[in-house]
Amino acid sequence: VEMSELPAPADLSHHINTVSRARTANQMKVLYEYFMVPGMTNLAGGLPFPAYFPFDTLKASVAKPARFVPPLAAEFHSVSPTTASPLLSRFSFSAEQTLPVPDTNSSPIHISIPKVSPPSADPGAQIDVATALQYTNMNGLAPLASFIADFTLNHLHGGRIPYSNPGIILTCGNTDGLGKAINLLGERGDNMLVEDFTYPNSIQTAAPYGIGIVPIGMDAEGIRPDGPGGLRDILEHWDSRVQGRRPHLMYTVTVGQNPTGGTLSLARRRAIYALCERFDIIIIEDDPYWYLQYTSTPFSTARPGKYPFLESLTPSFITLDTAGRVIRLDTFSKTIAPGCRLGWITAQPEFITRLRYISESSSATPSGFSQAFVATLLHSWGMGGWVDWLAALRDVYALRKTNMCALLTKHAFTSTMHDSDSDDTVVVATRPMYEFVSPDGGMFVWVRVRIEEHPAYKSFTRRRTKLEMMTALWMFVAETQLSLPCPGWTFAGSEKIKEGKAAEMMRFCFAAVEEVEVGEATERWGKGVQVFWGMDEGEIVAWLK
Ligand code: PMP
Ligand code: PLP
Repeated sequence: VEMSELPAPADLSHHINTVSRARTANQMKVLYEYFMVPGMTNLAGGLPFPAYFPFDTLKASVAKPARFVPPLAAEFHSVSPTTASPLLSRFSFSAEQTLPVPDTNSSPIHISIPKVSPPSADPGAQIDVATALQYTNMNGLAPLASFIADFTLNHLHGGRIPYSNPGIILTCGNTDGLGKAINLLGERGDNMLVEDFTYPNSIQTAAPYGIGIVPIGMDAEGIRPDGPGGLRDILEHWDSRVQGRRPHLMYTVTVGQNPTGGTLSLARRRAIYALCERFDIIIIEDDPYWYLQYTSTPFSTARPGKYPFLESLTPSFITLDTAGRVIRLDTFSKTIAPGCRLGWITAQPEFITRLRYISESSSATPSGFSQAFVATLLHSWGMGGWVDWLAALRDVYALRKTNMCALLTKHAFTSTMHDSDSDDTVVVATRPMYEFVSPDGGMFVWVRVRIEEHPAYKSFTRRRTKLEMMTALWMFVAETQLSLPCPGWTFAGSEKIKEGKAAEMMRFCFAAVEEVEVGEATERWGKGVQVFWGMDEGEIVAWLK
């Protein structure tokens, strides 16, 4: 299907808030069009003269896309044909790794961005200091904007956004993207759906607007469309007289959900999208971890795309978005580096136009340094190199995940248990002190401590709360073992969830430190919990300072 044959998105402008409705286009916009006219002398814009920029050239050494794929993987196989998994054989911890391997991929690519491009250069592709550090319109640096558009529309979503002319605008990352989406849509008295366990910045961003937060029941995969507390249940039983305005916004992290690690299947996405259509809800899809998928649900084997890695990924809500109700947030924070402060929003044109007005009066474009370096990196890699880079990152994080899960499992068991008849701690059987589902994506393992099985749980919770007991556990292990996961209650979508099921949870990130440290800290945490399991009420209370 050609883009132009696709139907226009629905008019969803009634979701736009009062402030955003009042915004108008920048008066300078027309000038930018004139700047492009060949031969035009610009005496209009307040642009500083580029020769007076103190930066002459920008240089960097950057990785080759294959840096994290050890070379000669084929030879590894021939040395040890018995290795179980091809992934493990590539990143093996075994003796294979001691083989001398010429490391051709660690040598960097040197990039140099000149002050001005040679006159012959294609103006749409030129990356130079004079342009990158100058004011531009909200499209940003042309070579970056065009790479992102090509990647997003033709490859990431494979041309499958089902309405005509989806738009893209650069952001300073997904924090900024969410801030702008709420700035566009959030009104005092609104309600916003979030997952039961949510990335807390969603609440911090929306709540000050006077937006109520409505948690949706979830499981290891993500949002549950059905069942008690699921999306349908919440929406069908919404009582406006008691609960206020029915939610018209939903914030969701659909891949490697932060904090649960869940990844939403295509079937779930269809069911959730249908409910959002029925109840007229805008979906804000914040997916910094979209490429870190450890199980795959291919979109369609009938329409193989150019890049098998991308085709193997669970598709975005935006590929189901006939109405244009998805605001998709993407970021380079987890694919390149958080400090780039660079990302983009994909949505229907009406929303993009309004988001442009917001950018014009807030961030303007992301930093020119950031855009110039990232654009040069991406153009030197090419689309294929960029996809290879993403696939290799997925593989290295998958290995960390496997490693952390194995170590958590190894230390999960204790041999003591509370005997309720004698009120004693006795050795009965080997029971897990905590449990988790190996994450389907992202950077986190979401662990439930079976705190109710702690020998002192009953006596402790007579006078104090489960949350206090878990706080003591968290502090005890942090201070005695120097191993620090993030407490689950940080991510609670409500006070009730915080005191209840979030109080049993811990989020472990396997991305942040050296792989060997991830392993050691995971082991120390398991050992710390074992010691905690032997503590009585008084010893536990002492940790609640
Ligand atoms: N305020 C005034 C009065 C200006 O003249 C300009 C730039 N022409 C700006 C703000 C925009 O500043 P910035 O580039 O720091 O966003
Ligand atoms: N959204 C989610 C779900 C995240 O986990 C994070 C980072 O931890 C962010 C947004 C922040 O992204 P950015 O650096 O692009 O602002």
